[in-house]
Amino acid sequence: MSRSLKSLFSKKFGGEPDCIVRAPGRVNLIGEHTDYNDGFVFPIAIDRDIRIAARRRRDEEVHLHSVNFETDTVFPVDALEKDPQHPWADYPKGVMAELTKAGHTLSGWDAVIYGNVPLGAGLSSSAAFEVASAYTLSLINEIPFDSVQMALLCQRAENRFVGVQCGIMDQFISALGKKDHALLIDCRNLSYRYVPLDSGQVSVVVCNSGVQRGLVDSEYNTRRRQCEEGVQLLSEAIPGIKALRDVSLEDFETHQRLLPEIVRKRCRHVVAENQRVLDAVHALENGDVEKMGRLMDASHASLRDDFEVSRDELDLLVDLAHASEGVLGARLTGAGFGGCTVNLVQCDAVEAFVRQITEAYRKKTGLSLETYVCAIAPGVGELEG
Ligand code: ADP
Ligand code: MG
Repeated sequence: MSRSLKSLFSKKFGGEPDCIVRAPGRVNLIGEHTDYNDGFVFPIAIDRDIRIAARRRRDEEVHLHSVNFETDTVFPVDALEKDPQHPWADYPKGVMAELTKAGHTLSGWDAVIYGNVPLGAGLSSSAAFEVASAYTLSLINEIPFDSVQMALLCQRAENRFVGVQCGIMDQFISALGKKDHALLIDCRNLSYRYVPLDSGQVSVVVCNSGVQRGLVDSEYNTRRRQCEEGVQLLSEAIPGIKALRDVSLEDFETHQRLLPEIVRKRCRHVVAENQRVLDAVHALENGDVEKMGRLMDASHASLRDDFEVSRDELDLLVDLAHASEGVLGARLTGAGFGGCTVNLVQCDAVEAFVRQITEAYRKKTGLSLETYVCAIAPGVGELEG
């Protein structure tokens, strides 16, 4: 695609781009709804990405062409506003607004943008777009690219300009991912650790249920409130806790009677899920992929029964995965209520798994399943030629 992106750029703007940048989408292996509880997440960057071919302009105009949407938009560098005609341009605009706020002077630029991260499927095409934009703008304007700071800047772009209250995981993994490694992120202090995942042994397969993530905003906010309520009530018995991250499984067992039932279930998920992430890291570091799979299964059960963010189609996909040979673990990934499942599958079983689950899902639901066998990609970077 980089070659054809280059020729698309030439066709659109004449001449060659200064750079072609790619930033990956992601899938979270385990650690769901832990980020806003100051906890742990464990994503991988995948070989689906957003690509931007770009060139600095001599004036202060921005000309963007979206290959996916087959449309163009033009705006000045110093008047960044949301445009309901081109909502996709809010992502680079948001990044530009934050770079400007951080004191950088930006030139105009021309760009052609193409992505193959499915939109709105929970693989974070939005973060990939922000991080690709930030990297492109850094190159064009000679701004040093500090990966952690840029991930934070992209998160602010999504929070403030786009208006989505996402955590830091998506931008962080898109900026810092490493080939053939998963990334443990401590969402409290942003410390992180790379953990090798042997791609010759197991594959990560994503199944896109095809059902949109309905309800997600209001339910997400409710879950956040319930977690906060849990912290407040538990802090009467466990002084000094600031987030569910600070509650151990033992403390939770001892004091859970202080919580009303719903809040208790929500908190149980988060407290146990944080521990599962750490156990998963330990399992992978010891090459124990079976254990990793069992932890993913437990994560799904907890998201379904305690956090209650699953839905029938996702539960069905997980059940079908369990019925398929060579599947080590399966769970919903992302916020829930739709989107994707992530499956850990022995390499030699992938083909049969994909065939069987696609067929069985179609039979049961009438829906066509999209599957992605993911390679673990590096984080944002420049493409040659
Ligand atoms: P997710 O991040 O889960 O994929 P979001 O709703 O957060 O879903 O972000 C999807 C939006 O990001 C799209 O509606 C579009 O505005 C923008 N986007 C994603 N990929 C592209 C692309 N290839 N070209 C232009 N805009 C894109
Ligand atoms: Mg998104």
